[in-house]
Formats: sequence, C-alpha cells, structure tokens
Amino acid sequence: MAWFCSSCGAPLPEEPPTTCASCGAQHWRNPKPCGGALLVRDGRLLLARRAIEPWLGRWDIPGGFCDQREHPRDAAERELYEETGMRGRAMRLVGMWLDDYAGDEVCLNIYYEMEPAGGGEPEPVSDEVSELRWFAPDELPLDDISFPAHCREVLATWRDSQNGG
Ligand SMILES: [Zn+2]
Repeated sequence: MAWFCSSCGAPLPEEPPTTCASCGAQHWRNPKPCGGALLVRDGRLLLARRAIEPWLGRWDIPGGFCDQREHPRDAAERELYEETGMRGRAMRLVGMWLDDYAGDEVCLNIYYEMEPAGGGEPEPVSDEVSELRWFAPDELPLDDISFPAHCREVLATWRDSQNGG
C-alpha cells in the first residue's frame, strides 16, 4: 500500500506515523472513536441484529462513529435512536475497548450504560438492523455477537456489574 502526503501529494517514505520528506508535514494514524449504547430496561439489555457487513446476521451493541466534534456519549445516544427508535440517557461509562473494524481501520469503542428516556418499544427503524431483542444477563448471545474480539468482553463486563460484581 502506498501512502501520500495530504499536504503536498508527495509519496511518504513509510507508513505513518512519519514525516513527509518533501514538505515536512507530519502524518499520524489514530483509532476512530465510536460511542456504544448499553440500553437497559427491567434488567435486560437491548441488542440489534446486524443487516449489514461486517458481521452480517450477528447481534450487535447499538452504536457508531463519532462526528468530528461529537462527544462519544452523544454519539452513543444518537446512534441508539437511529438504530432502534429508542431514546436513551447515558448513566455511566462502562469502559473503552480498542478493536480492528474492517480493512485496517482501528476503533476506540466507548460504551455507556443507558436508561430509557421516554417510553415506546424498540423498532428496527434502520436498514442496518433486522431485529431487536431484550436480553437478560444470563441470556446474552456471547457466541453470536459481532466484533467478538471486544464485544464479548463488553457484554461480560456489563453482566458482571449487574450481579453486584
Ligand atoms: Zn508533503
């Protein structure tokens, strides 16, 4: 893969992080921040089945990429609404996990436990979601979850916090 300077267009001497030999611009590679929503009602967690790649058909935690000046908490609340039709309010930070996304993208995934803000039932309002379901802590689909390299641990962390641990 060839890398080019975004300032002057010259080829870069190596994969970033590096400095352009032609104009001196510095180049970095950083993970992309994502916000994720663990919406809980009556002790059960809302998950969405993916209707898109990657991980088509697997269960997923609602969430997505942050806009440039969007706090991950706000991104998580926005994505929750866009994917499920449910408004949620972030109550606590559950944790942060780094993971590969697709290609050579890396995401910093930041998860919040939420409570419903308003009523209603979840609806798969997005083309990205085929099904929505509430899961009790002992029903979590740990073997059928998307992005298993980090989402299994997210679910286990949430489950353990529900058990008083
Ligand atoms: Zn340059």
